[in-house]
Amino acid sequence: MAETLLGPAEIRELAARLGVAPTKKLGQNFLHDPNTIRRIVAAAGLRPDDVALEVGPGLGSLTLGLAAAVRHVHAVEIDRTLAKALPETVTAPHLTVHLSDALRIRGGAFDPAPTMLVANLPYNVAVPVVLHLLAELPTLRGGLVMVQKEVADRLVAGPGSKVYGVPSVKLAWYAEARSAGKVPPAVFWPVPNVDSGLVAFSEREPPAGADRTDVFAVVDAAFAQRRKTLRAALAGWAGGPDRAEAVLRAAGVSPQARGEALTVGEFAAIAAAARLSVPGGKLSRSDAQPEEADS
Ligand code: SAM
Repeated sequence: MAETLLGPAEIRELAARLGVAPTKKLGQNFLHDPNTIRRIVAAAGLRPDDVALEVGPGLGSLTLGLAAAVRHVHAVEIDRTLAKALPETVTAPHLTVHLSDALRIRGGAFDPAPTMLVANLPYNVAVPVVLHLLAELPTLRGGLVMVQKEVADRLVAGPGSKVYGVPSVKLAWYAEARSAGKVPPAVFWPVPNVDSGLVAFSEREPPAGADRTDVFAVVDAAFAQRRKTLRAALAGWAGGPDRAEAVLRAAGVSPQARGEALTVGEFAAIAAAARLSVPGGKLSRSDAQPEEADS
């Protein structure tokens, strides 16, 4: 890895030269600790032939570490000043900067196609960004993201955990996730008032036999009322509690269970059973009807 990583003095100097005043709105807390950069790059498990996608390169701290480890880096930055200055800090020819909102970017925007997502994410949009990119970029084989510690705990939680919820199940659709450790506030400028956590993930085959949109609709409905039994929580989605019970029984899931106990495979079984029980159609919150669908 190149040893030209940015420390506190370089970060301050760069920010002053560019006239950058970090904003909370864009989650701008910049890493100024070379050891943390080395730790992130090592924990990501990158291969020299990987194509890294970094969301929010900021002043380029992590980008420098990534550029030394992989064959290409795509950096997606929403802040025009930062995006414009990045190629001056990271002079590698294998860097492509995309001035864009990561939540709106499409898979086709990248050539070569990214294989790993590695990012110190803007914390306010971290979960939607990860889920959006996994949906858009089937070429990703895995990644490592830094997020607020509580969000990291949620992303890696399994069934039965108090913090298991919508982000945990949706990430599990795409990937196996695990914690890669905690990061203290002192390594950022400005210092955030929260701890941070690293989440590593590797691509996995999604459960067979169900459509992702259908499964995510079940997950959203189940956790919208997480204290209720699935029979009650899925009533609106299924078109009534009796119908929810029938679908759950067909899927082999107890109607008395709660969403927080189910694996992503069980959510997929519920969506698949619902589809089978409505000839030619699918259930969703908006079109759930007891009678058969038209087409
Ligand atoms: N990677 C840098 C580092 O570690 O020092 C900066 C990380 S900072 C936590 C988050 C970065 O994401 C900022 O540069 C911010 O401008 C950028 N950002 C915020 N929202 C974004 C979005 N929707 N799309 C792309 N970049 C975004």
